[in-house]
Amino acid sequence: MKKLRVGLMFLAAAVMVFAACGAKKEAVQEPDRETLFQVSLLQGLTFGDYHGSVTAAELKQKGDIGLGTFDALDGEMIVLDGVVYKAKSDGVVEIVKDEETIPFSNVTFFDTDEKLNIEKVTDIESLKQFLDQKVEEKAPNQFCVVRIDGTFREMNVRSEYKQTEPYQPLAKVLETDQTFFDYTDIEGTVVGLYCPPYMNMLNATGWHLHFISKDRTQGGHVLGLNVDRAELALDYTDGFLMELPENEMFRQFDLTVDQSEDIGKVEMGQEQTDK
Ligand SMILES: [Zn+2]
Repeated sequence: MKKLRVGLMFLAAAVMVFAACGAKKEAVQEPDRETLFQVSLLQGLTFGDYHGSVTAAELKQKGDIGLGTFDALDGEMIVLDGVVYKAKSDGVVEIVKDEETIPFSNVTFFDTDEKLNIEKVTDIESLKQFLDQKVEEKAPNQFCVVRIDGTFREMNVRSEYKQTEPYQPLAKVLETDQTFFDYTDIEGTVVGLYCPPYMNMLNATGWHLHFISKDRTQGGHVLGLNVDRAELALDYTDGFLMELPENEMFRQFDLTVDQSEDIGKVEMGQEQTDK
């Protein structure tokens, strides 16, 4: 409002000045740093709705850290330090163009609330238990984003092949179309999101982790890890904003169906579901 008033004051002087104020007006819009933004429901993605609905440019206005996937399920998304990366099915990471669209994602702006170190974490379950304990102590009913920086003795990630229509449910796609990459002694960052239990109809509850290497050339959805020492930064977030897609496929889903079993499979990779 302030900017508009300034614009009007100068209106008599020159139309050019007004135009400049208009441009400035957009720039002063402060992003809400304490809101977790979500594109669609994970349950929509699990049903097979891979139609991108939000562009990468729009997503970057909602956050500088997060995870997700791309139109046609074309790889795993890692958002870090304001850059949207795609870990493709061939293991190659690329920076995503602004016009690419996204069917599912979570992002927020990262502000460190708590710093921690971890030592000798030999598997992903131990890491999740450690993180669970931290959020239970502090804010189990809020969202939490973690970034974990370190050199990982082992890092096991997956991506998936780009799909063509008609789209199949995610668990079915991953039976055949996952690709796995196992790295050793790799330096990089894990980006993780914690969703509280009440989110079970909208997302995966607990922790969902993606990885990107320090040189930004390798990454994916984390299935396993082993790390001697790493630095953790946690950001608790108490706002939530969800944008639903408008396509016909999404409109017809029966989202009352409990998909938690499929989501568990998808999260842990088909290979490991029998554990
Ligand atoms: Zn993932």
